[in-house]
Amino acid sequence: MQNCKFCKRKFGWKELLISIWSSYKPIECGECGKKHSISFASKFLVSFLIIVPAVIFGLLIAPDMGLSKPVTFGIIVMMAFFISLVLPFFVKYEVKS
Ligand SMILES: [Zn+2]
Repeated sequence: MQNCKFCKRKFGWKELLISIWSSYKPIECGECGKKHSISFASKFLVSFLIIVPAVIFGLLIAPDMGLSKPVTFGIIVMMAFFISLVLPFFVKYEVKS
């Protein structure tokens, strides 16, 4: 998981998750106060990991299973939620200049 670039304090899983959920809000290190923003590549990765399974499920799997639109939507929201729980392990943050 991501460390502070300055004091090497480890950011918490919850801290990173809250940042992702609040549309990539920069994280301030609790130790030295340096602001860290999510990297462009990580933003791309997050969108990719959420959108691709949602599209595959919504366009291919759900129609095949005969699921109604509200059910499909509900499952997609749940999928996105569970996928987001593992995202803190993959995202990279950089210090804003
Ligand atoms: Zn720090």
